[in-house]
Amino acid sequence: MTVTTLTTLEKAATVEFRGLRREFGPTVALDGLDLSVRPGELLALLGPSGCGKTTALRMLAGFEHPDSGEVLVDGEDVTRVPAHRRDAGMVFQSYSLFPHLSAVDNVAFGLRMRKVRTAERRSRAAELLDLVGLGDKGERFPHQLSGGQQQRVALARALALRPRVLLLDEPLSALDAKVRLTLREEIRRLQQELGITTLFVTHDQEEALSMADRVAVLRAGRLEQCAAPAELYGRPATAFVAEFVGTMSRIPGRLTKDVVEVLGQRLPVDGEAPSGASAASGTSGTSGTEVDVLVRPEAVRVRADGGGTARVVATAFLGAVTRVTVRLADATEVKADLPTHEAAALSAGATVTVTLPERPVLVAERTN
Ligand code: ATP
Repeated sequence: MTVTTLTTLEKAATVEFRGLRREFGPTVALDGLDLSVRPGELLALLGPSGCGKTTALRMLAGFEHPDSGEVLVDGEDVTRVPAHRRDAGMVFQSYSLFPHLSAVDNVAFGLRMRKVRTAERRSRAAELLDLVGLGDKGERFPHQLSGGQQQRVALARALALRPRVLLLDEPLSALDAKVRLTLREEIRRLQQELGITTLFVTHDQEEALSMADRVAVLRAGRLEQCAAPAELYGRPATAFVAEFVGTMSRIPGRLTKDVVEVLGQRLPVDGEAPSGASAASGTSGTSGTEVDVLVRPEAVRVRADGGGTARVVATAFLGAVTRVTVRLADATEVKADLPTHEAAALSAGATVTVTLPERPVLVAERTN
C-alpha cells in the first residue's frame, strides 16, 4: 500500500499556542501555555494527571475555548473557529466508533457529511483501512473488532478528511500492553510516512519518549520544558522534569560555584545554583550551599566493599540489568542499574561503596 495520495495533498502545518489560559470554576486548567509545534513533527504532551494536557488538545480541536490566549494553525488565528471548520482529525481514548456502521462506513462517515460521492468515499475509506492494516475487515462492525483494531479504524477515520493536524488523546491507554506496543510503532510509522503534524496526549512517559520527536512536559497548566526525548532525559531543565521523566535519585551534596561535593567526590556541574538553594541553607560562599544532586540509576556505580558505609537493601532483576537499591550512611536511598552479572555479588545486606563516574544530571534545591 502506498501513501502517495495522502502525502502529496497536505503540506504539514505549524501549530502555536500563545498564552492559553482556561479556568473551570476555581480550577486553573491552563495557566498561560505557550508552545509551538513544528511542521510534520509528533509532539507528545506529557504531565501528571490534571496538568492540562487534554484541555490544550481540545482547544486545538475547537471543542474548548480559552479565556485568553490564541491558537494558531499555519499562522492563522483559529481561536474562535468552530470545531467542524478546524481541519483536525482526532482519536480518543475510548474508540468512539459508530456501533451501527461497518468499519468502512465509519471511516467514510466524515466524507459523507462533506457530500463526497459514494464511489470516491468508499475507495478513500478502503485505502485508509488498508493503510492501517485492516483492508480485509472493512465490512465488520465495531463489536466484531478487537480494541486494537477499533483504534486503527478510529485512526483511519481521523485521517479520512485529510486533516491539517492529527490529535491523539491517550489513544492507547485502553489497550493491553502488547497491542499498545505494536500500535505505538504503527502510529509512529504512519505519522512519519504521512508527514502530518501530530499532537499526542499521554501520561505514560515511556510512550512519549519512544514515539515523539519532541516532548512537552506540562505542570499545573504551564509548559515546564519542551525538548527531544534524549535531551529531556539527559539535560532536564528543572527538577520536576528530571524526576517526572525516568528514574532519579537525590543525594545530598554541597555546591560551590561549579563544583559539587557528593559521596566524597568533587564533580563539575553546569550552570548556576538552583533557585532557592542558598536561601534554603543560608550558607553560600566558601563553605558552599546544601543541595540535592540528581542522578540516573545508570550513572551510579556500586561495588562490594567490606569497609563501605552503604548497604544494599533490595535488588530487582530487569533482564540485562539489575536495579540495586542502596541505603547510604545518612539513610538516603540511591538506585543503581548494574549489569546483571555484576549485581550477582550484591545481595540485600551487602556492604558497598557508591560512586558517581559522571557529572550529575542536575543539582537542585535541597528538599529535606
Ligand atoms: P489526565 O491525565 O488526568 O487526563 P489532563 O492533564 O489531561 O489530565 P485536563 O483534563 O486538561 O488534565 O484537566 C485539567 C484540569 O481542569 C483538571 O483539574 C480537571 O479536573 C479540570 N477540568 C477539565 N475540564 C473540566 C470541565 N469541563 N469542568 C471542570 N473542570 C475541568
